[in-house]
Amino acid sequence: MAKDEIRSPLILEIKGNSLDDGPGIRSVVFYKGCPLSCVWCHNPESKKASVEISFDAKTCIDCGSCRDVCPKDALSRDNRFYIDRSNCDLCFLCIDTCPSGALDRVGKAMSVDEIIKKIMPDKPFFDTSGGGVTLSGGEPTLFMDFTSALLKSLKQNNIHTLLETCGYFDLNKFMDIVYPYLDSIYFDIKIIDSIAHKKYCGVPNEKILDNFTQLSEKTANDGKILIPRTPLIPDITDTVSNIREIAAFLKNLNITEATVLAYNPLWHEKSDKVGVEDPYKNNKTMTSFTDNSVTERYKAILRDAGINEAKS
Ligand code: SF4
Ligand code: SF4
Repeated sequence: MAKDEIRSPLILEIKGNSLDDGPGIRSVVFYKGCPLSCVWCHNPESKKASVEISFDAKTCIDCGSCRDVCPKDALSRDNRFYIDRSNCDLCFLCIDTCPSGALDRVGKAMSVDEIIKKIMPDKPFFDTSGGGVTLSGGEPTLFMDFTSALLKSLKQNNIHTLLETCGYFDLNKFMDIVYPYLDSIYFDIKIIDSIAHKKYCGVPNEKILDNFTQLSEKTANDGKILIPRTPLIPDITDTVSNIREIAAFLKNLNITEATVLAYNPLWHEKSDKVGVEDPYKNNKTMTSFTDNSVTERYKAILRDAGINEAKS
């Protein structure tokens, strides 16, 4: 058992009233920490499992209060990210003194009971809309035992459960303690070429494709939902050859529904907030949303392979 899997995650956010993360009205629990390191990560604050500090330059009114209280002299207008994170000891004194909310703590420890308590007031909305709870991230399977306990509690409360996953996990353990409590799985298939996958996502993809293959058989037998999803990242996943290879892989498994996700460039701003260098910041193809015609072209490639757009 990996060390990461036995400890509790930090939670980034529990977002209510979501209409974009599965059927109906949903609450989405965003975990902090991911075994992949995708260069385009839309939630760069979710990459590290540990607590971080963020700085929003747009909100800062430059009052100087934070600089006055910082015991490490880690804050400076001369620093591109404002915070020298190699010097910061995460005492969070600056956050307490900031009048504008420009500084913030990223990641909060929450117990299963605390999460359930926060979610339960929205249960009537789940029940009337066919919604429920989505676990997202970050990567919930990085914390298998915690995720199992959370899902079990959700099912005890008759709540529909959905997992959004990068697919990089120990399948045996997943099948033993996570899968039994899931209704639906949204599973990322980003790049078919393993060398390119390692280059852009930090790990090769054999384990991911093998997990998907085995899960596709299991979910088909169990009547559970498994939807493959491909984020369209310009010149990385968003190429005709990659989408054709994904279509062929899915067709071979008799998959009939999939989703392509339009590219959203807002992650560039988020990277700055948590002090992550962004090599694509000035890359023209990475600064605009996916054009509708591009999304339609890839949906057509999937359709030609007998794979329709997933409904939700
Ligand atoms: S968290 Fe503490 S050490 Fe870090 S910048 Fe703020 S005051 Fe300074
Ligand atoms: S305390 Fe907040 S508003 Fe004032 S300079 Fe620091 S980050 Fe900006």
